[in-house]
Amino acid sequence: MKKVLILAGVHGDEIGGVMIARELRGWIEGKGIQGVKVIPEVNREAVEIRERASPIDEEDLNRAFPGNPNGTASQLLAHNIFQEAKDYECVIDLHTYGTGGRCVPYMLTDLEKDFNVELCMRVGLDNAVQTGGTSQQLFLELSNRRVPSMIIEAGGAQWLRQELDTVEKVLKGFLEGRSPDGVRFFNSYQWFSVEESGRYRPVVPPGTKVQEGEVLGYLEDEPITSPVHGFVLGVKMEGFYDAEKDSIASIAEF
Ligand SMILES: [Zn+2]
Repeated sequence: MKKVLILAGVHGDEIGGVMIARELRGWIEGKGIQGVKVIPEVNREAVEIRERASPIDEEDLNRAFPGNPNGTASQLLAHNIFQEAKDYECVIDLHTYGTGGRCVPYMLTDLEKDFNVELCMRVGLDNAVQTGGTSQQLFLELSNRRVPSMIIEAGGAQWLRQELDTVEKVLKGFLEGRSPDGVRFFNSYQWFSVEESGRYRPVVPPGTKVQEGEVLGYLEDEPITSPVHGFVLGVKMEGFYDAEKDSIASIAEF
């Protein structure tokens, strides 16, 4: 009986997910819950050095599914994980928001597939966001094979206790079969960046509704405003904003 597979550490720098998975694994053993498997450090070499990609081949594991048994180390790992994952009733892949950012916990999946909507309602985090996403991600490739699956973005890459506690509590409730409260569904979301780098200070926290034109934060004392009406999923935290790789915010639209 293979009911639920919970993964973390696909991206080695997203330690929050690894912390939740380790906690859950011990809790599941203690409770004697059957049919649930947890793998807290999928990409072990990357987790050890806390880098997103594997140090063996510098590949992003979550762009390598369904994998290749004759490929690189990451493609082989992806293949092995995929072969195991496809036999479960559902798969939850724990990630966190990018370095220097913080988000409200949310479920990310292809909501055009009814079985994923159903899984979101059973898991019951407050927010679920639609993505067709970048292909070769685990949850999308599994969804294409009709295996209900999702990513949970569990907060910031750093260990942010409040968000991790929320996700941990919700997942324990799910595994015990508790009925959750309602879920807010969002049809799309977008990343929002600006071209200049500099000191950034957000004024709107994740989990806030914003209007178009509302100030999100200040870049070197210049106000940065929201391009849309929406719900702020995640923000760049206070510190240096690097226009090459950071985003000011990700905003979901109702
Ligand atoms: Zn990730």
